[in-house]
Amino acid sequence: MKALAVDLGGTHATCGLVENQTILAHETIDTDRAKSLGAVLPEVVDVFHRLADRKGFSLTECSAVAIGFAGLVDSCAVRVLSTNGKYEDATEIDLAAWSRQTLGLPLRIENDARMALLGEFYAGAARGFTEVVMMTLGTGIGGVAMMDGKLLRGKHFQAGCLGGHIPVLFNGRKCTCGAIGCAEAEAAGWSLPLVVKDWPGVSQSALSKYPHVGFKELFEEAERGDGVAIAIRERCLNVWAADAVGLVHAYDPEIIVMGGGVMQSARVIIPYIESYLRQYSWTPWGEVRVRVAELGNNAALLGAVPLLSDS
Ligand SMILES: [Zn+2]
Repeated sequence: MKALAVDLGGTHATCGLVENQTILAHETIDTDRAKSLGAVLPEVVDVFHRLADRKGFSLTECSAVAIGFAGLVDSCAVRVLSTNGKYEDATEIDLAAWSRQTLGLPLRIENDARMALLGEFYAGAARGFTEVVMMTLGTGIGGVAMMDGKLLRGKHFQAGCLGGHIPVLFNGRKCTCGAIGCAEAEAAGWSLPLVVKDWPGVSQSALSKYPHVGFKELFEEAERGDGVAIAIRERCLNVWAADAVGLVHAYDPEIIVMGGGVMQSARVIIPYIESYLRQYSWTPWGEVRVRVAELGNNAALLGAVPLLSDS
């Protein structure tokens, strides 16, 4: 099957021509300053035409368009239900009509983290497993679940896809979702600078030389032996591990796939999560495997074919 796929994140839109487990061509549009989805969609159409020309085939050879969207979506009605500070106009747009009129193709839409899990299930680290949780550690924390080989969606299409919004600290920080002490509010890219700013002794730490502390800087300084960096890294690991226990108890997975840029430090993160799960999760049947995602930024695009094949 050939398909058109779009991974529509907060700062970029990656468009790809996909054939089964292969991305034939792709191009990324910078959407950091784009306020509305309506302004981005014409660019998406232009990119698809350009990619098809480059590969020498017609868009009509594709079966459909699959969009992964960073928000809550109704995959049955093909609508965006709720956004989180980006593309506020998305809930008003009839994306199926847009696709029919501009590309002549039917469209499916899914939450972007669910699309990434489908990709890892189809062509990556979760191949061969039917009970899967995926955690993506980035600006936010994505946490999605698959049970019996099917994405968990739920009555309001939010089941299993708010894994980063499991509270791990009842008196913690206010989260963007409205809750308190979510894993994402305690140890994600957007909340890390807030944690660092309030940490005792940070002004004497190597971290104080950075205008913005991300996970890269945190893990590097921890490796170099900075005491504050080591303590904050430990806290982040514990937040992610507590979130993982919550996800294991909620969804009974055989495997947790972990993705995101910080997984460049997988040799620190994976053994920590495994050890924590061994100690603190209730799994009398055995041990949950923890693996690094294999597909990186391509995961959501490679989720297109399984999404379109899913009835
Ligand atoms: Zn939250």
